[in-house]
Amino acid sequence: MDMIRATTESACDVIRWMASEAAALWPAILGSLSFRRSRCGRRNCPACLSGAQHQSHVLYGRHNGRRFAVYVAEDLVDEVRRGVDNGRALQDLLVQAGPRYVKALKRERASAAKSKNSAAKSKNKES
Ligand SMILES: [Zn+2]
Repeated sequence: MDMIRATTESACDVIRWMASEAAALWPAILGSLSFRRSRCGRRNCPACLSGAQHQSHVLYGRHNGRRFAVYVAEDLVDEVRRGVDNGRALQDLLVQAGPRYVKALKRERASAAKSKNSAAKSKNKES
């Protein structure tokens, strides 16, 4: 079904498809959510002494070549993870859209040239 549509869809169809797929993917975040354990540095901290240490989540990413790291509180982890999953799905969608959009543009150009050609031919016949 996708294959059939992919051979007939117009550039507008591709744009509509992208917009409808993307509509379900907000909020979207590009980055990676990591779990880490660290020592707090306090003396005789029971958590550190037991080896359990302190657990926290951090969102890592890169923007304009600069790395960032943001601490994510435990009660926000699920929401941030959803955003990261959406970001990945959105990125995947953008990659899929490339070939479909370019093919649709080429098809439209080809059919425009064809109708121009046949219009010119029929004009020639008339005169
Ligand atoms: Zn500690």
